[in-house]
Amino acid sequence: MELRQFGPLGRRVPVVGLGTWQMEGNDRESAILAIRRAIDLGLVHIDTAEIYGRGSVEELVGEAIAGYRGAAFLASKIHPDHATYAGTLLACEKSLRRLRTDRLDLFLLHWRGAQPLEETVRAFEELKKEGKILAWGLSNFDVADVERAVEIAGVGVVACNQVLYNLTERDAEHVLQPVCERHGIAFVAYSPLGSGQFPSRGSWRGDVLEGIANAHGVSARAVALAFLARRPSTFVIPKSARADHVNQLAGAGDLVLTRAELDTIDAAFPLAPPKSKMPFV
Ligand code: NDP
Repeated sequence: MELRQFGPLGRRVPVVGLGTWQMEGNDRESAILAIRRAIDLGLVHIDTAEIYGRGSVEELVGEAIAGYRGAAFLASKIHPDHATYAGTLLACEKSLRRLRTDRLDLFLLHWRGAQPLEETVRAFEELKKEGKILAWGLSNFDVADVERAVEIAGVGVVACNQVLYNLTERDAEHVLQPVCERHGIAFVAYSPLGSGQFPSRGSWRGDVLEGIANAHGVSARAVALAFLARRPSTFVIPKSARADHVNQLAGAGDLVLTRAELDTIDAAFPLAPPKSKMPFV
């Protein structure tokens, strides 16, 4: 599994992690085994959030990583309504309790809400000082909000921006991804498999991916993930609650696509014109 510099962090992080959104709707034992399989295979960046299953997914993750905590790179997210100074400190405590740990590796603001960003940043920095989080970052931040966060926090502080990015949603490539790169912020792709809307075998786009996958002895989803992670700033966090699916996703971790393969995928899933003047998404 390839490890990469994660924004300004000293620690290197695997290019492929594991998401946990909606795991409360999956078979619990299967989900726990999938998380453990992910860690065994080096997909140690486990992404969760306080709102997933109203805390129940953090509890599930806590159970899954008990005994593996040292190996995991654990990320959770605070709901923006809670992101006052005091609210951020409290939300972190609650997440830590549910996750059965005393430290998060990454704490993200789930999206830019109405609370003053200065307060959230001050609380994040306090949590860092107290050793309760290793680093903090953003999620769903557009270009203007990323710039604002860097203005408040200073250069080399914001660890990542976690945003929607997959083969049919490439809008972030226009401006947001380059802006993150310019600020040394890791670009983390969520819903990298289209939240389950993945091109099926037998469709022409699906078969483009299958053809490349067969040449490398990996799955079509691994090919998609490797394409998305082709820039060194970028990480992917696909979700699966099945260990056999996690095995397939792990195939992306060391997969290097040729220039011709990248061009083929690019042509099959072309970058659409920006949706707005200041695209984020
Ligand atoms: P993904 O794009 O990762 O797709 C997940 C779907 O793909 C699931 O239905 C899963 O089913 C299926 N899948 C995974 N691997 C395979 C496989 N090998 N074969 C067949 N099906 C497979 O969806 P998400 O939207 O969940 O995004 C990933 C993560 O990103 C989330 O879990 C969450 O952690 C994060 N996220 C963050 C957001 C934010 O606002 N910051 C918003 C949305 C997501 P199965 O479980 O059965 O394998």
